[in-house]
Amino acid sequence: MTRYQRILIKLSGENFGGGEVGVDPIVVASIAKEIAAVAASGVQVAIVVGGGNFFRGSELQQAGMDRSRADYMGMLGTVMNCLALQDFLEKEGVDTRVQTAITMGQVAEPYIPRKAMRHLEKGRVVIFGAGSGMPYFSTDTVAAQRALEVHAEVVLMAKNGVDGVYTADPKKDPTATKYDELTFGEALQKQLKIADATAFALCMENKMPIVVYGAEDEGAVYRIVQGEKIGTLVTA
Ligand code: UDP
Repeated sequence: MTRYQRILIKLSGENFGGGEVGVDPIVVASIAKEIAAVAASGVQVAIVVGGGNFFRGSELQQAGMDRSRADYMGMLGTVMNCLALQDFLEKEGVDTRVQTAITMGQVAEPYIPRKAMRHLEKGRVVIFGAGSGMPYFSTDTVAAQRALEVHAEVVLMAKNGVDGVYTADPKKDPTATKYDELTFGEALQKQLKIADATAFALCMENKMPIVVYGAEDEGAVYRIVQGEKIGTLVTA
């Protein structure tokens, strides 16, 4: 029996681009391989995909664009990542559905939570794209919301360049140490950054645990669902 039966993974755009603009097929293929192994172990997998490898609304706003329009561009960027991931998952033989919060019938299903849950029950991986469909939100927040709505047991947050939550930024402070476990209250009190504030609040209020793990740590998701203590577990 795996530790979790239904998980939601949040992958940021940075995970897809390998630090560059666009999609790095080698990186996406390796993400897909790992997710295929997790799905094959009988765990139901939902994924929320970010889009920072294409556009971030706040950055375009700083360059002079209207924020809402820029955010819509950001949301559309996430859909390209979804399609890339779907393609590589299907190459691994995993049945996959993309559901988007902005309707685009030619490329994806609309976001219908009950249908998403049916897909999950049938062993299909469900990828949620286009964020919440609303400007001024982030895909971290969508990850928390979707996890709650489809009754996932945990949000797995993939981070680039760091493998958990540390006492201080390990890139700046070599004495920083990693937390294996934390409560939301401790994270708040110590001002530790787990996710953006809205996502954090949603998880805390609704007691949705978060595991922060390193995106570069190959096989981490598989080992987490098997019960290995990897990264940092944040609980109520
Ligand atoms: N975005 C949005 N509403 C949402 C989710 C995302 O407006 O519900 C926009 C926002 O502009 C954001 C961009 O989409 O900057 C990409 O998402 P995010 O920055 O969360 O991606 P990540 O940092 O995870 O790659």
